[in-house]
Amino acid sequence: MKEYTESVNFIDLSAQQKKIRKNIEVAIKNVLDHGQYIMGPEVSILENKLKDFTGAKNVYSCANGTDALTIAMMALDFQPGDVVFVPSFTYVASAESAALIGIVPFFVDVDKETFNIDPQSLCRGILEAKKLNLNPVGIIAVDLFGQPANYEELRNIADREGLKIIADGAQSLGASYKDKNVGMLGDISTTSFFPAKPMGCYGDGGALFTDDSELGDKINSIRLHGRGVEKYDHTSIGINSRLDTIQAAILIEKLKIFPEEILKRNEIAKAYHKIFDSCDYASSPKIIEGNISSWAQYTLIVEERDSFQNKLKNIGIPSVIYYPKSLTNQPAYVNYPTLSKGTPISDELCNKVLSLPMHPYLKKSTIEKIASIL
Ligand SMILES: *Cc1c(COP(=O)(O)O)cnc(C)c1O
Repeated sequence: MKEYTESVNFIDLSAQQKKIRKNIEVAIKNVLDHGQYIMGPEVSILENKLKDFTGAKNVYSCANGTDALTIAMMALDFQPGDVVFVPSFTYVASAESAALIGIVPFFVDVDKETFNIDPQSLCRGILEAKKLNLNPVGIIAVDLFGQPANYEELRNIADREGLKIIADGAQSLGASYKDKNVGMLGDISTTSFFPAKPMGCYGDGGALFTDDSELGDKINSIRLHGRGVEKYDHTSIGINSRLDTIQAAILIEKLKIFPEEILKRNEIAKAYHKIFDSCDYASSPKIIEGNISSWAQYTLIVEERDSFQNKLKNIGIPSVIYYPKSLTNQPAYVNYPTLSKGTPISDELCNKVLSLPMHPYLKKSTIEKIASIL
């Protein structure tokens, strides 16, 4: 997700910064004054605030959302060669985080309406993986574009099959599923603070959430070089993945306005729905009853995508294709297992999706401008 500097911004980080710039400058200055750049006091302050915000019992920040997924798999003791099921229509990090440590991503398909992992396709994947004598251990459930996946069904399948759920909430912090917040939906949930995500810092950052304190302790150890109780005592092989104190200080300020920003994103989505619910050649994204999305993206399905994107471009409206290629078709991932019938819905979505500008400070006039070309 990149930022754009055209007159209408696809994601407008400057409007937000204007609003909280003074507080952020003070927060950064405080870190410069105390000088604890790694694991300074702001890191645990932020983690505690994220516990309050999500309801998760244990929260650990880390260096980025990709590391968060890898750390989650390490904490769950997944072994090289084990299989995790990953939707084929997602950002590459959902699979990369597994492949990097020798865990095998098995690609399954998504639901055409929600863009999230399709439980039926997952069940087929489990059957086919077992037939191939593979060892399924987990599901990487991605909350694509901010909408939580179908966790009730995923939980039933996971419990029946003895699988763990890692909820990739890189795009969905601030969203909820049936009164449960993102952060409470997987055995371990993760998020990303990459600048363009709904809750972004001014660099890289990520976090893990779990209600299981034992898992929490493992996560904490892994992110700190596998450290034991004492500083130079190493009880497991870990990685170096900490959130910078300066980024934590920035996120503390951003979290203060985040609930209001989620409401604004939902208002903007509503205004977009009004236009596209009755539009012939573009269909609006569907949110399942009981879900609140964080609207990382507002993504349409458009039959004539090129011409629609050009029309938008002609009136100065940026739009982006998330994602142009499903993971099963990515050169680095073509040799990983997938369903015998492939992932046709993911492939189709890659040819038809288009994301419109979405951020809490989007102007009504921009939405009206988009409506004018229909
Ligand atoms: C952005 C993203 C990630 C990775 O987060 P980073 O902080 O960029 O490492 C993982 N999964 C999904 C679905 C994402 O959108």
